Amino acid sequence: MVRGLDYIRDPRLNKGLAFTMEERQALGIQGLLAADYRTQKEQLDFVRLSVERYKDPLNKYIYLVELQERNERLFYLLLSTDVERYLPIIYTPTVGLACQRFGLTYRRPRGLFVTIYDKGHVYEILRNWPVQDIRAIVFTDGERILGLGDLGAYGMGIPVGKLALYTALAHIQPHQCLPITLDCGTDNQTLLEDPLYLGLRQKRVRGKEYDDFIDEFMAACIKRFGPNTLLQFEDFALVNATRLLNKYIDIYCTFNDDIQGTASVAVAGLFAANRITKKKIRENVFMFLGAGSAATGISHLLVMHMVDQGVKKEDALKRIYLFDVNGLLTNKRQGGVPDHAKEYAQDVEPEKNFEKCVATYKPTCLIGVSTVGGAFNETILKQMAQNTERPIIFALSNPTSNAECTAQAAYDHTRGKCIFASGSPFPPVKYDGKEYRTGQGNNAYIFPGVALGVIESRSIRIPDMMFLVAARKLADFVSESDLNVGRIYPPLNDTMKFSLTIAVEIANYAYDQGIATMYPKPKDIKSYIQSRLYKLEYHSYLPKFYKYPKPPDVKIKSVEEVYKGIMLVLNLNWNIEF
Ligand code: NAD
Repeated sequence: MVRGLDYIRDPRLNKGLAFTMEERQALGIQGLLAADYRTQKEQLDFVRLSVERYKDPLNKYIYLVELQERNERLFYLLLSTDVERYLPIIYTPTVGLACQRFGLTYRRPRGLFVTIYDKGHVYEILRNWPVQDIRAIVFTDGERILGLGDLGAYGMGIPVGKLALYTALAHIQPHQCLPITLDCGTDNQTLLEDPLYLGLRQKRVRGKEYDDFIDEFMAACIKRFGPNTLLQFEDFALVNATRLLNKYIDIYCTFNDDIQGTASVAVAGLFAANRITKKKIRENVFMFLGAGSAATGISHLLVMHMVDQGVKKEDALKRIYLFDVNGLLTNKRQGGVPDHAKEYAQDVEPEKNFEKCVATYKPTCLIGVSTVGGAFNETILKQMAQNTERPIIFALSNPTSNAECTAQAAYDHTRGKCIFASGSPFPPVKYDGKEYRTGQGNNAYIFPGVALGVIESRSIRIPDMMFLVAARKLADFVSESDLNVGRIYPPLNDTMKFSLTIAVEIANYAYDQGIATMYPKPKDIKSYIQSRLYKLEYHSYLPKFYKYPKPPDVKIKSVEEVYKGIMLVLNLNWNIEF
C-alpha cells in the first residue's frame, strides 16, 4: 500500500516537481512539493548541470548515487542519454575510487551483505530482501576489485555499479536486480586498521569453509528466487575465479564477467581490428602480459572461435603466448604454470624478459591484462611496429594508472600505425596532424545485452558460446567511420541499440540449445523483449478511467409479465393481484 508521502520518499515512484497538479491532489501530496511544475526534460537539464558543478569525479559519483536513491527513473534517464559521459563516473575508473573510499561515501544500505558467519542461514538472509521477483544477482567477495586488489566489503560499489549498468544500458527492470557482497574478511591490512571500514575485521576465510559457503550461497539463491536466476560473479581473485566458474557453469545460470565478459569484448575488438589489418584471427600471433582471469578468458574464446572456423585446437593454442609475473608460460618453466592456464603453456624455452618475448615470437597483437601500469614501454611498442604493419595494442588494465601504456604512447612509438584499445578511457590522441579516438574495451558493451537475453528467454544456463555470439554481433556494429578514426568499438552512446540486438541473438541461441524456459516462445523475440523493458519516461499516477461499452437496446418486460411467466413454469395457480 503506497500512500501520500511514500510517492515522494520511494525513489522508484518519486517524480519530484514533475508530479502534475492533478496527481498531487489525487495522491494527497499537494503542499509537500513547491508550487512549480517541471517536465522530466527540464529535470534532466537540471541534474545534468548539477553534476557538472562538481569538479572532483568522486563528488560527481556521490551526487549520482544520491540521485539514484531519490529519483530512480531520472537517474537512469540521465545515464542513458549520455553513456560516454556518465559511465566513467558510475563505473570504471571512478567506481574504483568510490570503493576505496566506501567507508566515507556510505550513506544508506544498498544491496545485501552476506557474511561467512551467516553460513547455515544464507537462505534466511536472502529472504530479508523485500523483493521476490529477482532475476539477476551480481555478487563479489571483494578480493580483486578492478586492478585495486582486496577491498573486502568495500567492494560493494562494484555489484551496485554493474547493476546500474544493467538498467542504464539494457533497460533491465532495476527492482529485479540484486547486488550482493559476500564478506569473508579481508587480507588488506590497511582496511583492517581503517576506522571507517564496514566489513568483518578479520583475515579472509579460505579453503573448505569458503567453498562450502559459496556452495550454500549459490543453492540458496535459486531456492529463494528460482532456477533461472542469473548469478554473475564479479571481481573474485584469480585463485577462485576460474575454479568457481568451471564448478558452476553447468549447474547454474551463471557467468563471470571478468573472464567471459572481458573475453567477449576483447574478441569483438579483435574482430573489428582485423577488418583494418585484413587478417583473419587465425593469422595473428597473440601475446598477453598477464595470465589471470582476463587473459585466459580471452584466450579461451579466441581458441573457441578458431576451432569454430575449422582450425585444429592444438594449432589454435600455438598462436597464443601468455606471460605472467613469473615469466612466459612454458612447459619447461621452473615451478610450472598455474592450473587455470596450463593449456596455454608452450613447448619453448622459459623466458623472464617480456621485451625478449615480443622480439622472439613477433606477436601481431599485444594484450595487457597485468595491472602493471606502463609495462608496454617504448622498446616494446617499437618492436611491435617492426613485427607487423598494423600492430594491435590493447592496454586493458584498470584503472587508467594501471594501463600498460597510454593511447598517445602507443601511437607515438608505432609511428601512428597501431590499432589501440584500453580498459579505461583515454582522451583523443593527436598524431601527425590527425586526431584519433581510441576505443574502450568496456565489458559494458557485452554483459547488459547478454543478461537481457538470458533473463527474457529465462535461460537456465549461460554457455561460453553465448559470449562468442555476442562478440560477433558487437563487431558488426563498428562502422567504417569508427575504423577511420581508429576506433574499434562503436560509440558507447548507442549501447542500448546493440544491447537489444545482442539480447535477441542470445535469446535465439538459448531457444536453439533448448535451455530457454520462457514458454510459449514469443513469435517475435525482439518485440517481446522491447515490451518488457524498463521505461525511462515517467508515467501518470492518475487512475485510468476506461469506458464501458454502450449497453445494447433490449426490450425490458413488465414485472407483471415476468411473474406470470414464473407461475406458469412452476405450475402455480395463485391468485396474485398485480
Ligand atoms: P588477475 O589478478 O586474475 O591476473 C593478473 C595477472 O597479471 C596474473 O597472471 C599475474 O601473474 C600477472 N601479473 C602481475 N604482475 C605482473 C608483472 N609484473 N608482469 C607480468 N605479469 C604480471 O586479474 P584479471 O582479472 O586478469 O585482470 C587484470 C587487469 O585487467 C585488471 O586491471 C582488470 O581491471 C583488467 N580488466 C580489464 C577489462 C576490460 O578492459 N574490459 C576486463 C577485465 C579485466
